[in-house]
Amino acid sequence: MQVSSKKKKKKISIFNIIILILISIIFYKFFFPKFLCRNWDKGLGNISIKNNKNEDSCFWEKPKVCNINLFDGIFDLSKIYYPNGCKHDKKERNYFIKYTNKLYYKYFDFIYPNELNYKYPDDIYLEVLIKKVRNEILPISNNSNINKINNNKKNAYATLHFDKKTNLGEININIIKNETLIKEREKLLEKKTKFDNILVIYIDALSRQHFLRKMKLTRKILENYYWRNEKKKKNLKDPEENITNNNKNNNNNNIKNTNINKEDNISKSKNPYFKISSYQFLKYHAFYASTPPSIMPMFYGENFNNDLKKRGISIIKYLKNSGFITADSGNHCSKTYLDIQKSFYKDYIYFNFEDCDYQIFHLFCDPNYMDPKIYYTNLKGPYSIIRKCLYGKDTFEYQFEFGRKFLEKYKNYKRKFLRLAFSDAHESSGESIKYLDKPLSDFINFYIENYFNEKSIIFIISDHGNGMPSINNLFNSFYLGQDFTFEKHSPTLFLIVPNLDFYNFHFKNISYINQTSIEINEQRFFNSFSIYETFLDILNMGKYNQKIESLFQEINGNFSNCEKFGILSDTMNCICKKENQ
Ligand SMILES: [Zn+2]
Repeated sequence: MQVSSKKKKKKISIFNIIILILISIIFYKFFFPKFLCRNWDKGLGNISIKNNKNEDSCFWEKPKVCNINLFDGIFDLSKIYYPNGCKHDKKERNYFIKYTNKLYYKYFDFIYPNELNYKYPDDIYLEVLIKKVRNEILPISNNSNINKINNNKKNAYATLHFDKKTNLGEININIIKNETLIKEREKLLEKKTKFDNILVIYIDALSRQHFLRKMKLTRKILENYYWRNEKKKKNLKDPEENITNNNKNNNNNNIKNTNINKEDNISKSKNPYFKISSYQFLKYHAFYASTPPSIMPMFYGENFNNDLKKRGISIIKYLKNSGFITADSGNHCSKTYLDIQKSFYKDYIYFNFEDCDYQIFHLFCDPNYMDPKIYYTNLKGPYSIIRKCLYGKDTFEYQFEFGRKFLEKYKNYKRKFLRLAFSDAHESSGESIKYLDKPLSDFINFYIENYFNEKSIIFIISDHGNGMPSINNLFNSFYLGQDFTFEKHSPTLFLIVPNLDFYNFHFKNISYINQTSIEINEQRFFNSFSIYETFLDILNMGKYNQKIESLFQEINGNFSNCEKFGILSDTMNCICKKENQ
C-alpha cells in the first residue's frame, strides 16, 4: 500500500510540474508580456505613437512582447550596497595615494588638473587622459608646485580635502567669474538669437520609455507643462483672466521683469504652469546603441560614415561666437563626454572639438571612481549597476553643484549655455537611473524658478536607449526581447520652452519660433542631425544640411525609410518600417 501511494504521489507531482510549466509558457508567450506592452508607447498626456497611413512615411512598429516592465524594479542592488545612500570607503585616501603619487602620503589637500590644459585630439583618448590626469593631480600645500597650482585655478576647478582624523575625502567645486571673458563675449551679444539661456540635460543610454518609467518626479514636471495638458486646463478655466494688469503693462523684453514665478503671484496661485510648455518627441530615432554615432551628429553635425573631409564643427564654437558663456560637466573621465578609446575610433581627428569655458570632467578620473585596473566594472565608475558614488556622494551631486555655482556667478550675464551629462543610465540593471530623478527634478525646478525667462530652453535628451548586457538583452537572444531592441533605438527627448501664446499676448512680438511645428514634430521620424540643426536655428545661423529640419521647422518626412535615414546594416536595427515590410 505504502509503495503504491508513494508512486501515485510522485506521478501527481511530476504531472503537476509539467502542467504548471505548460501553463506558464502559454501565459508568458500569449498573454502576460503582451499585457505588459499595453502602455509601452504612451507618453506625456497619455499620447501614443501615431502612424499616418496617408503620408509617405514609414510605419512605427510597437513591440509585441515587453519584458522590461516584467523585470522592472527587481535588480536594484543599490538597496543592498547603499541602503542609506552613498557612503565613504575607509580606504579611499590610501587608494587615492596609491594610484596617483606615492610621495603624496603626507598631504591632505589636492587640486585636480584643469581641463583646459589638455589638447585635442591626443590627450582625450581615454587611455592617455586617465593616466595624465592622475599624474597631474597636485598637493595644494606643496610650494614647489605653486605656479602649476595657480595655473589650475582657472574658470572651474575641483579640490579634494582628506580629513586628518578620519582620512575621508571631500570634494569642492570652484567657479571663478572671468571679467575678461565677459568683456570679450559682450561684444558678440548684438547677434540675434532665438534663445539666450540653454540648459541641456543629457542622459546617456536612456530610452524615452525608460525615462517615463523611472524618472517619475521629472516626468511630473514635464507632464504639468505639457502643451496638450495646458490646453485642457485652459478649456476648464481660461488662465488669461488670471493675469494682473501690472503684468500686461510690463511690455518689454527685460529678463528680470519677465522672470517666471517671481512677480506674477496671482496667476501663480491659480495656474503656475501656463507660461511654460513642454514637448515630447515620440519618433526620435537613434542610429545605434552606442554613444559616438549618435552624439557626433548631435553636437558636430557630422558622423563617422560621412565624407571625412567635411570637418564636423562643435556647436560650442558657434555658441561662443554668439556671445554665450558655456559650461559643461559629465560624470565620466573624458574631455567632451565622449568615451574615446583609440582602438575604436580613429576618425575622431576629423572633428573640430571645442572646450566649454567652464568644465568639470577630470574629477571623475579619480581612482576612487574609475577603477585603475579595469575602467568599467559593474560595481564602480560610470557603468556601475549601483549608484555612482565618489567620496560619500553621488557623482551627479558634484555636477549639480557645478551647475548651480556657474549660473549664480553669471546671474547677470545675458547668454548662458549649461550642459550636464550623466552616465547614470549606462548600466545593466536599468535601476540606478532612478536615484538621479529627485536631484534632477529639484535642479530643473530651481532653474525654472531662478533662471527661466522668455528666451530660455531646456533639452532633456539622450543618444539611445540601454544597450548594456542585461536580463532583457538575454531575452533578446531568444527573440522575446523586442521591447529591448526598440527601446535601444528610441532615445529620450523632451523640450521645455516658454509658452509663446502667453508671451505674445502679454509682451507682443516674441514669435521667434513656430510652436505649431514643434507640435507636429512630436509625431515625426527624425534623428540627432535635427538636434544640430536646432542649435544652429537657435543661433539664427541657417541650415548646415539643407535636407534636414530643426525641431522648430516642420520635419517633412525625408526619412521615409531606414536606408534614407542612414541605418544601413541589419545590426543597427530600425523601428520604422514600410508598411509592406
Ligand atoms: Zn551612449
